[in-house]
Amino acid sequence: MRGLIALAVLFVAVVAKETFEGHQVLRITAKDEAQLALIKDMEEMVHLQLDFWRGVTDVATPVDVRVPFHSLQSVKRHLESLELEYLVMIQDLQVQKLQTELRILGFRGFRILMEIRGPNFDFSRYHTISEIYSFQDMLVAENPNLVSKIVIGQSYQGRPLNVLKFSTGGTNRPAIWIDTGIHSREWVTQASGTWFAKKIASDYGRDSALTAILDKMDIFVEIVTNPDGFYFTHNSNRMWRKTRKPNPGSSCVGVDPNRNWDAGFGGAGASGNPCSETYRGEKAHSEPEVKSIVDFVKSHGNFKAFVSIHSYSQMLLYPYGYTTTPVKDQAELHNLANKAITDLASLYGTRYRYGSIINTIYQASGGTIDWTYNQGIKYSYTFELRDTGRYGFILPANQIIPTAQETWLALMAIMDHTFKNPY
Ligand SMILES: [Zn+2]
Repeated sequence: MRGLIALAVLFVAVVAKETFEGHQVLRITAKDEAQLALIKDMEEMVHLQLDFWRGVTDVATPVDVRVPFHSLQSVKRHLESLELEYLVMIQDLQVQKLQTELRILGFRGFRILMEIRGPNFDFSRYHTISEIYSFQDMLVAENPNLVSKIVIGQSYQGRPLNVLKFSTGGTNRPAIWIDTGIHSREWVTQASGTWFAKKIASDYGRDSALTAILDKMDIFVEIVTNPDGFYFTHNSNRMWRKTRKPNPGSSCVGVDPNRNWDAGFGGAGASGNPCSETYRGEKAHSEPEVKSIVDFVKSHGNFKAFVSIHSYSQMLLYPYGYTTTPVKDQAELHNLANKAITDLASLYGTRYRYGSIINTIYQASGGTIDWTYNQGIKYSYTFELRDTGRYGFILPANQIIPTAQETWLALMAIMDHTFKNPY
């Protein structure tokens, strides 16, 4: 009987999860602007339930889109009739995902061994939200003179919005902000965020550049910036991007928290359709996950750098996304981005593109760093971490540590420059 119940529970757990059986990820390449516009039109074909992993940018940048099994035939016919070139990047997303998960299971024996040996956190695999919350508490417990945990608010579903504060004293020192995982399916970002937190704690007192920074400035890290979405990616739908707040009058849930900020809010480069992956929300700062950061940043009032981390595409971006008007610090931000990506590439040769959001990816309104820049935080950057589409959002776990390590070099370049150029 007990076995039967266990089996039933397992069955329920399996059927409750969104599967991606037969879903393919297609890479579409436009030959010219006219073809690019045809691809752009597909964003409005809501009935196809397309999920743009990498949206329309420019002719040089291919578009990656997840196509559910039921739309596959019509999408391929559509592309062929318009003579749009495409190739299948991922044959069957469910199979690819299972392969990645099996690789994680292989580490389990090793992990148990690590746990017996001491309170080590395995950075080479993906973790659930409760594991990350425990990691945060452990880091605070281990480094009481450096690390503290601040709860800046609650998610829609009531989860704490935890921020780790790294500080060696003083009051309201000039500060650096780093957030990861505002788009919940971008798992390598939360995984890198935990690695950064550990790195800051262990490098203080050992690495001279970081020590100098922390002797004068504070660093804040929000690892799980969209906790409801993150929980959902583990338990229901691995590909969930948005928040989990219901939208009145619509059966579609969630808002794109990177279109919800009060910077060009409602303009082009965000959707007014609640079913869209880039739905901007009813009004600016409607999402508690966004509003909590807004309130925190405003009341703190002394942030000098703000880095918001996404995946994937391998890009380092600065404002603006909502307008082509260049920011007044464009030259400095551009040079610093160049230095940061050069440092990043020095470790494993990973190549990044860089520039303003609107010139490098696409027009996006209501984005995080446009708002922070307009608040007077000069060093506002967004990363798009690995890869360039081979695995996309389901980057194998064995790339977590290399990704975090190389990104850290770029972060250090930005933090060091911020420290040495007070304003
Ligand atoms: Zn993102």
